[in-house]
Formats: sequence, C-alpha cells, structure tokens
Amino acid sequence: MLAVKEPGNYNLVIMAIASINPATGETLKTFTALTAEQIEEKLQLAADTFRTYLRTTFSDRKPLMMRAAEILETRKHDFGKIMTLEMGKPLKAAIGEAEKCAWVCRYYAENAEHHLSDQIVETNAQKSYVHFQPLGPVLAVMPWNFPFWQVFRFAAPALMAGNVGLLKHASNVPQCALAIEEIFASAGFPKGAFQTLLIGSDAVEGILNDPRVVAATLTGSEPAGRSVAATAGKQIKKTVLELGGSDPFIVMPSANLDEAVTTAVKARTINNGQSCIAAKRFIVADDIYDEFEKRFVEEMRALKIGDPMDETVEIGPLATPQIVNDLDEQVKKAVASGARVLTGGKKIEGRGNYFEPTVLVDVDFNAPVSCEEIFGPVAMLFRVSGIDEAIRIANATPFGLGSAAWTNDATEQAKFIDGLEAGAVFINGMVASDPRLPFGGVKNSGYGRELAEFGIREFVNIKTVWIKD
Ligand code: NAP
Repeated sequence: MLAVKEPGNYNLVIMAIASINPATGETLKTFTALTAEQIEEKLQLAADTFRTYLRTTFSDRKPLMMRAAEILETRKHDFGKIMTLEMGKPLKAAIGEAEKCAWVCRYYAENAEHHLSDQIVETNAQKSYVHFQPLGPVLAVMPWNFPFWQVFRFAAPALMAGNVGLLKHASNVPQCALAIEEIFASAGFPKGAFQTLLIGSDAVEGILNDPRVVAATLTGSEPAGRSVAATAGKQIKKTVLELGGSDPFIVMPSANLDEAVTTAVKARTINNGQSCIAAKRFIVADDIYDEFEKRFVEEMRALKIGDPMDETVEIGPLATPQIVNDLDEQVKKAVASGARVLTGGKKIEGRGNYFEPTVLVDVDFNAPVSCEEIFGPVAMLFRVSGIDEAIRIANATPFGLGSAAWTNDATEQAKFIDGLEAGAVFINGMVASDPRLPFGGVKNSGYGRELAEFGIREFVNIKTVWIKD
C-alpha cells in the first residue's frame, strides 16, 4: 500500500462492495465505492456536525437514541433478513441481534449521563473534579460477523457521549451498513452524526491521516488491527481494538455434564462458528473426558445444517467462500500434524459456503492450529490431568479474549478467575456480551473496552478540573 501523507489523498483502488448471498452464491447487489470527493464531503459534514452536536445535552440525545431502539424493534424482521441474506447467520439469531441492538441503545440512552457525570475528587483545591467531554468524529472499522451488533455497541455510546460516527463496514455487508445509517437518520440524529462510508480497506489509512478524524475503533482480525493501530499511532490518535480469539472452554469433574456439553456445542457453533468469543478449544479433565467427547460428538453430528432463512436450521453457510477454504486448510494442516477427525472435517459440496460441523482430537500442541483462531464450526478437544494443566493449555495462545470454566468447586473457580489470561472469565456459562458488562481482550485480542461505563469513556476527554478561589 502506498503511504498516504496528505489529507485528501485516500489511496483509492476500485473495490468490490457487494452483497452476495452465502447460501446460494447469488450476487444480490453491488455498490460503487465512494470517490475521494465524496469522502471529503462526508468528513467535512462530520466535522461540521460535531461542532453543534457536542453542545447538545444528554436530555437532547436521549429521545433520539430511544427512537433508534424503537425502530430496531419495530423493524427487526426486515433487519434480520438483510443480515441473513448478506452473511448467512440463521434468521432467528439475526432477529435477536436487532433486538440486542435496541437494548444497547436503551442502555446508553438511560445511563450515559450517569457514566459521564462529573466526578468530584477531594484535593487541596476548593473544588476539583473529573469532567468528560466528547472528542469529535470517530472512525469505526467493523466486521461482518455481527453486522448490526458490532456497529451499535460502538455507535450508541459514541453518539450519547456527543461524538459523531463514521462507519467503514466490511465490504460484504453494504446493505447492513446503509440500513444502520438510515436508522440513525430516521431516529432524528442530525445529518452527519452517523455516516456510512462505502469504501474498501485501502481508504482507511487516508481517512485516519485526516485531522478531522480524531480516533478509531476496529473490530476485526489481528492484521487489520495492527494496520489501523500503526496508522493511528503515527498520528497520535486513540484506538480501541477488538480482535480475534481462541477462547478455551474448560470442563472439570464437578461440572454439570449435561449442561456443559449442550452449552459447549452452542458456544462453538453460535453464528455458524464465526464469533470472536466462540469457544474454540475444549479442555476437559481426564475423569470425565470420554463421556464429554462421546456426547459432544453426538450433539455436533445432530445439528441441522441448511438454509439460514429456515427457522429450524442451526448452522447456516459461512460468510464467504474464502472462509470455507481457510477452514478447510486449517483442518487439513491439523490432520497432517497428527489430529484425528471424529466427525465432519470437510466442505459440503454444492451451492453455498457450507462446512460440516467438525470435531478434532489429538491436535499436536506444537502445531500452530492448536492455538490459532478457527472461524467456523470446528472444535478441538484436549484431555488434561487437572486444573494446572487446564490453565496452562488455556493460556497457550497469543489471544486473550474470553474464557469459560465449568466447575462447582469454589477453590477451582477462584483459581480460574485469577489464572486465565483473558478479558472475561465465565464460570458455568457461555461467554457473551452484555451492555452492562465491559467487553474486550488482552494479548493479541486487542485493547480498550466496549460496553458499560468503560466503553463510553474510551472516546472522551477525561478532563481534570482544579479550582481555587
Ligand atoms: P477483517 O478482515 O479484519 O475485517 C474487519 C474490518 O476491517 C472490515 O471492515 C475490513 O474491510 C477492514 N480491514 C481489513 N483489513 C484492513 C486493513 N489492513 N486496514 C484497514 N481496514 C481493514 O475481519 P473479518 O474477517 O471481517 O472479521 C473476523 C475477525 O473479527 C475475526 O478475527 C474475529 O475474531 C474478529 N472479531 C472480533 C470481535 C471482538 O469483539 N473482539 C468481534 C467480532 C469479530 P474489508 O471488508 O473491506 O476488507
């Protein structure tokens, strides 16, 4: 990529921005990427809008965000359909995603003022306190896997804090990107408070170099995160990175095995296996390993695969043919290094990007696949002698996003909470995001947090005020 030094030089190449139905391969719609002039207009609009929007109060913004929530709920079936058609998640889950976006809008509409109210601190001043102020236009580079949720969990706090948003969404979900822009416009936010930029990733560097853009958040892969953080770093702009994961799911002898197995299958196959916080490595204590393996394989085999528009289908297609090929490659490499396939293991031939739900055992710890992110319905099972080995293997990955441990032993629970290197530890449950709890990772899973009070404080000036009469 050419270095971009001057604002206005967006280093554009012609990009394919298209909706392609992953269940059929049919191209539904194609879009032309924005020209440099169009990008320029949108950046200027964002900067102009921010100048007045930052003066609005929480009471001004709250009804707009509540209205966005209402639109999401009223039209959840339409939005769900767009998501399913563009990236293949089962329709039921897509409708649930629209509902969850309404939840995050309401959460920040109701709590933003509290999270950003002045915090008095006793010092030697007459009065000293912390005051929070918006920063300006923030660029959000987002992935396709939760095409609404990822965007709303950035946009709801950002807009409630008084920032304005610029969305560069993944190139395979342009209709989702445009629908989200329309939701904020219909909710009554000022023109320019939230804009979708239909651009390829080649344009991101130039936009980040532009002084009107003050910060960036990226949810996506490690290479994309490195690239955006490097550009932002050169410009001394704040970034939040939500990157990949290879989450462990640990099961100890005291766990409720029925619940653990069923949750494990769900945790691996949610979103057709394409979730950053999907459980990817199942680490099971020796005493219960054989029973867990038997039941886990049975439940993976029983999953209903098919058209994601069919509400009884549990696994739809993967989002792109490239993801199927990458998965196929990872499974082949695992097998070449000694792994055994207990079920599945290959692409499903025919129309659409389908891959069989797969269980791998005997994966060599030295093979890179043992700790890489596997983005699809492929699980790896590991047998361990006890808790120390479980924690050691769980941490043997460059990632540190979520983790789950199943045990009813309080001492073990405390040891997992303390010892797992991850942004979240779920005990006897499946890792999930919740507007009330912070979300983010350590190690190569990124830095910064989304959601809760931590998320809304990422893109504000935390201003110290010190007053002496
Ligand atoms: P991706 O290829 O990194 O794409 C994510 C976004 O980054 C897209 O908008 C993409 O645009 C853009 N992008 C890609 N390369 C870029 C670059 N060099 N510079 C600037 N922008 C760039 O990831 P994905 O395949 O869409 O999503 C899957 C990944 O996201 C997985 O690793 C998953 O774990 C991670 N994820 C993390 C979280 C979390 O919260 N931690 C949540 C969901 C997903 P184009 O589409 O135009 O290439």
